[in-house]
Amino acid sequence: MNKIAVVGAGISGLSMANYLEKHKIDYHIYERRKKEDLAGHGFLIPEEGIEYLTQIIDRSQLFEHGRFLKKYIQYSHTGNKLAEKDLHNVFATSRHSLINLLTQNIPHEKITYEETVTPRNTEKGKLKHSDGNYIDADIAIISDGSKSRIRKSLFQDEKMRQVQENEVVNIIKNRELADSVENDFIKFHHEKGGLTFGILKLSEDTILWYSQFDNQKYRINECSAENLKNYMLEIFDNWHPLVPAIIRKSDYKNVHLWCVYELEELNPFYKDNIVFIGDAAHPLIPFTSQGVTSALKDSFFLTKYLVEEENYAKAFSRYESERKPEIEIHINNGRALLNQFLLPVSQYSENILPISYK
Ligand SMILES: Cc1cc2nc3c(=O)[nH]c(=O)nc-3n(C[C@H](O)[C@H](O)[C@H](O)COP(=O)(O)OP(=O)(O)OC[C@H]3O[C@@H](n4cnc5c(N)ncnc54)[C@H](O)[C@@H]3O)c2cc1C
Repeated sequence: MNKIAVVGAGISGLSMANYLEKHKIDYHIYERRKKEDLAGHGFLIPEEGIEYLTQIIDRSQLFEHGRFLKKYIQYSHTGNKLAEKDLHNVFATSRHSLINLLTQNIPHEKITYEETVTPRNTEKGKLKHSDGNYIDADIAIISDGSKSRIRKSLFQDEKMRQVQENEVVNIIKNRELADSVENDFIKFHHEKGGLTFGILKLSEDTILWYSQFDNQKYRINECSAENLKNYMLEIFDNWHPLVPAIIRKSDYKNVHLWCVYELEELNPFYKDNIVFIGDAAHPLIPFTSQGVTSALKDSFFLTKYLVEEENYAKAFSRYESERKPEIEIHINNGRALLNQFLLPVSQYSENILPISYK
């Protein structure tokens, strides 16, 4: 088997490494961040994602680090119940826990942290270490996230655009507030549209909350933690009392405003000996809740075809044919979910689930 370099140790790079490890294929991962830098939020993972995840990490350990949610309940901003749906084994967990679990099976000598890989001379499929030397690999698997610099250098005509939505995501440890929330996914919606507040319980004493803003109506820019908190308190002031209570009691140290981007059109998923997985191949907007599952499936199928095919060109081509059609469905579903979010609640369609299913 050829020498493999994996660039990026987020969910997709780490799941790729786990699948390669499972098939005893040699690789090395290069990651820009420090090992302990695990800032981030949490994920909703549909049942299919859990099936792929439990092929590479221990089921019982995973289930200790999150919760299955029973129902999705939609409320108006003042707390009138609008609709409810059963959730079929949708799991909620923090990014921190998932990254830790995925890192556990990878021998430490196979990851180099604080190593930013740069694209140089990529037409010949060459990538560079931060010290300027070329990376010694026959295949590069790129998992450097939605704003991939390596992708941009290969596909210079690509067009990224900002989506009409920003998010603030936070995790709060507070037993009293957690006790007031069942194992349900609850979401409050402003009746005029374009503003929501979602709550998920991660454990007995921890909840994850997130807020989605129409960024044409709510023009918040990246600002200090204190200003963000004040702004949140101002706009959620007259909402159901649980919402301002959570906002008030949260610590804003690790919170920032997510600006969401998408590609106008997908690029090819590979070029020469370089192949893209996860958000680097296909940024998916958060409305789909399919980023993690898609990253896992990319890693599963890419590994499968690398094992089955006699050369990487065939493996990459089968990988792209397998994954692209499904990703296109999620992109379209995500756009439909975004359009619905921007509408007044009275114009919502019946399919209320904030998850894209193929
Ligand atoms: C607000 C928000 C909410 C979301 N909610 C959900 C959800 O509920 N469910 C869900 O499934 N998905 C969700 N997603 C999407 C999900 O977060 C992503 O799809 C998933 O994390 C993609 O992982 P990745 O590994 O492809 O990219 P990333 O997590 O971005 O990882 C990329 C890694 O590459 C490293 N890197 C970057 N450049 C370099 C370089 N040059 N050299 C070396 N390393 C580099 C970075 O440090 C990083 O560790 C959400 C996203 C956002 C923004």
